[in-house]
Amino acid sequence: MVLSGNRLTAKVEIASSSAFLNTDRAWVEINQAALYQNVKTIKQLLSPKTSLMAVVKADAYGHGAVTVAKTVLDAGGEALAVATLQEGIDLRLADIDAPILVLGAINTIEEIEAFSRWDLEATLCSPQQAQVFAETLRKTGKTLPVHLKLDTGMSRLGVLWEEAVAFVSLIQQFQELEIKSIYSHLATADENEESFMWLQKSRFDRAIERLKTSLNYTPPCLHLANSAGTLRDRSLHYDLVRVGLALYGLSPSPKFTSMPEGRSLRDIAPLEPVLQVKARITQIKDLPAGAGVSYGHKYITDRPCRIAVVGIGYADGVPRNLSNRLQVLWKGQKLQQIGAITMDQLMLDVTSCDNIQVGEIVTLIGKEGEQSLTADDWAQQLGTISWEILCGFKHRLPRLAKG
Ligand SMILES: *Cc1c(COP(=O)(O)O)cnc(C)c1O
Repeated sequence: MVLSGNRLTAKVEIASSSAFLNTDRAWVEINQAALYQNVKTIKQLLSPKTSLMAVVKADAYGHGAVTVAKTVLDAGGEALAVATLQEGIDLRLADIDAPILVLGAINTIEEIEAFSRWDLEATLCSPQQAQVFAETLRKTGKTLPVHLKLDTGMSRLGVLWEEAVAFVSLIQQFQELEIKSIYSHLATADENEESFMWLQKSRFDRAIERLKTSLNYTPPCLHLANSAGTLRDRSLHYDLVRVGLALYGLSPSPKFTSMPEGRSLRDIAPLEPVLQVKARITQIKDLPAGAGVSYGHKYITDRPCRIAVVGIGYADGVPRNLSNRLQVLWKGQKLQQIGAITMDQLMLDVTSCDNIQVGEIVTLIGKEGEQSLTADDWAQQLGTISWEILCGFKHRLPRLAKG
């Protein structure tokens, strides 16, 4: 879909592509009831004056941004955040009219013009960028709601917090720019060591205090917390929280130990994973002892074995580095994956499974009975974080909304 494409054409494209959704091979299931409940659970942690901004960037962490945005708004979420301009436009094309903040930095004139056209809200993170915004908007005669980003220690986007007064007074000179909020982003809120998180909060507070004393200016809205900050401490909530991972039912820090009063994160917010990944068995066969399995023969059968081939691979987002380590669920039982994971297929040892059939479904991430496999399990095995696992599921996997 292109920026300049008209709304109607784009909608027809969306409608026709959904005709191919199916569960013949492999797919992602989105549990909308779980998502709805997670929003309610998170909202219960917030005071009535704090809004929930659902972070649906990167296609809602792989869950499908349109489905997620609609469910979150139904459940009481007040606003949305995306990373890129195109992500914002895609939500508008789906008739979503909630406020949408674009978290990424925008620098070109074409993009700035698109912000007004699509009724999106921009992050401003440098004086130069603010200048370009103001000049571009002056020509169109429009004003744009903007959110000013302060860098309190993440060292990513934003004006250094000590420069907040100069930045705000510059923006105030531009009638084209309407300050809708001032925000910052926490770098270490998902770690056990809390001191840097509190330093960032105190820098944020000091910057806002200086706006009051130097400019007699009070911003209409302040925000600082991501999922970890939101779950961790109410004093980080301010007027709005920007929650991503927790919406999707995962804990930003599975290993948190220092929650208040010795409580676990589960006690504070019992969240349920929203995404499941499933695939079908496409062939079953018996192999003799000593057979090499898959590319490079990284697995050799040490006894006569029955294997199942499954139609999902690394081109779908199952990391090849999990080869010989992945487990999947079949009828509530854990099965071991063997040999190299290939682009489109992987193999399981099903020697112990009575009556396993071609066409049956296995769960790679999700729950079957008492057993579950999570994005955190994969992240731990791979030495990464669950965010990366969720974003890794490719669009070749249809997203099916359930419940
Ligand atoms: C991605 C992002 C968030 C959401 O982070 P989670 O840890 O997934 O809740 C919030 N704020 C900003 C600026 C982000 O880039």
